[in-house]
Amino acid sequence: MRDRSRAHPSQPIVVWFRDDQRLTDNPALAHAASSGHAVVCVYVHDPEPHHGRPLGAAARWWLHESLRELDGSLRSLGGGLVLLRGNEQETILAFAEAIDAIEVCWNRRYSPAQRQTDAAIKSALEARAVAVSTFNGHLLREPWKVTRRDGEPFQVFGAYWRAARQDISPAPPLPSPDALLFHGTPESACANAVSLADLKLQPHAPDWAAGLRQTWRCGESGAQQRLRHFLDGEFDGYATHRDEMARDATSKMSPYLRFGNISARQVWYAALAAAQAQSISSEHLRKFQDELGWREFSYHLLYHCPALHEVNFRPQFDAMPWRNDQHALRAWQRGQTGYPLVDAGMRELWLTGWMHNRARMVAASFLVKHLLIDWRDGESWFWDTLVDADEANNPAGWQWVAGSGADAAPYFRIFNPVLQGQKFDPQGEYVRRWLPELDRLPAASIHAPWQTAPGQLAAASVRLGDTYPLPIVAHQQARLRALEAFETLRGQR
Ligand code: FAD
Repeated sequence: MRDRSRAHPSQPIVVWFRDDQRLTDNPALAHAASSGHAVVCVYVHDPEPHHGRPLGAAARWWLHESLRELDGSLRSLGGGLVLLRGNEQETILAFAEAIDAIEVCWNRRYSPAQRQTDAAIKSALEARAVAVSTFNGHLLREPWKVTRRDGEPFQVFGAYWRAARQDISPAPPLPSPDALLFHGTPESACANAVSLADLKLQPHAPDWAAGLRQTWRCGESGAQQRLRHFLDGEFDGYATHRDEMARDATSKMSPYLRFGNISARQVWYAALAAAQAQSISSEHLRKFQDELGWREFSYHLLYHCPALHEVNFRPQFDAMPWRNDQHALRAWQRGQTGYPLVDAGMRELWLTGWMHNRARMVAASFLVKHLLIDWRDGESWFWDTLVDADEANNPAGWQWVAGSGADAAPYFRIFNPVLQGQKFDPQGEYVRRWLPELDRLPAASIHAPWQTAPGQLAAASVRLGDTYPLPIVAHQQARLRALEAFETLRGQR
């Protein structure tokens, strides 16, 4: 370790931004700002991470916008974001050495691969006498701090959340630094420096991101604006209406939390304050907190399990007789299964990079149970198309639906997409929004067009098999096939 008493005040401290792209409540940045040293803010883009997962296309789009905004915010404080491209370990080490950094600090990441990378970087820096400080900027509770009495990790959400909530007192959010002393970074230090455009994060030829641009205002200011909109509006009613897919009744914080444009602590405290200020029923606050709890639980699983996106949490699922049906997989990806609710969800995803939670559950269940396709195929499609594609929440969500996960839905719970539509989209508004070809069908038949009288279909200009597909599987048969397949797992260990 470097002898700090001999550190020169001109030696800078590096803030390595990762999934914490904000100035407010950013513990690593706050630490650097109060260190008395000049600060260099960097982001390293590793297109082929050695251990982790390369970002999907929609997340890359978000990342571009988010980095642009972060750079703008840092510029308004008199500095900017240094973008570097390359292997994370080599790039950070070379950069710290080139600018003679006294310290590198960051907020922690949690997948086994990321932790391995971070641990290797930490020891390599320390071996070169560069100090390292790390912080929790991403979660309400560190995953290793919530354990069962016997010290083992939790496998059941209810028990996990009861324990986590018991003494939950997340540190109050930190303010954004008023001022930062930026270190002038010499050109020679930036062998790997690139411009944002060089990272080629945005799609071109074809540019499929028009719907994403229309839907989202990315970055820290977008997060604050969207959170305010939610807390001043649908928050008061969240527990009652959150499953209604046509309604804008949820916070849409997921991509902002994914990239750290806002912290879970900020969301937690803002919800508490809004509930108090507006005398909102504790039912709504509690339900919203529970959802943040599911995020914490997913990170708990990610931390304790090997490769959550590759390995069945329950090993008996290794014997599952999945079907390899590329035709059905493509129909599902394109929103062409003939089940309107499933197709509406999949088209919402394609056009906006986000899908309502209820639609995610129904669409995922349809792939895994009706089509009997491996959950990993669905997980990778979501990984590529969601702006909130998250290393913890996505595989945990998929494994929950498949039944292979911790505290998962039982295998015999097979969502009926028609009944789900009738219950949570009774007027068919959600389906109409994403499937304009069914726009003129009345509410009574919109979730099952194949059961609709020919005259009614003709009046709505729907020609099944032509303007909209016939169902690619029959619900009852698919259900029985799934139950049989899942039965084969009984007795497997
Ligand atoms: P709100 O209802 O406003 O909830 C607030 C926050 O709580 C969310 O932003 C999110 O961070 C967290 N949250 C809510 N529900 C869940 C949940 N079930 N599990 C974990 N955290 C939750 N969420 C992701 O953030 N990224 C993913 O990649 C992802 N993939 C999913 C895949 C499947 C198959 C399923 C069933 C769910 C997935 N989820 C994922 C969880 C959930 O669907 C989204 O977090 C939620 O729809 C985001 O909308 P919101 O921000 O409006 O949520």
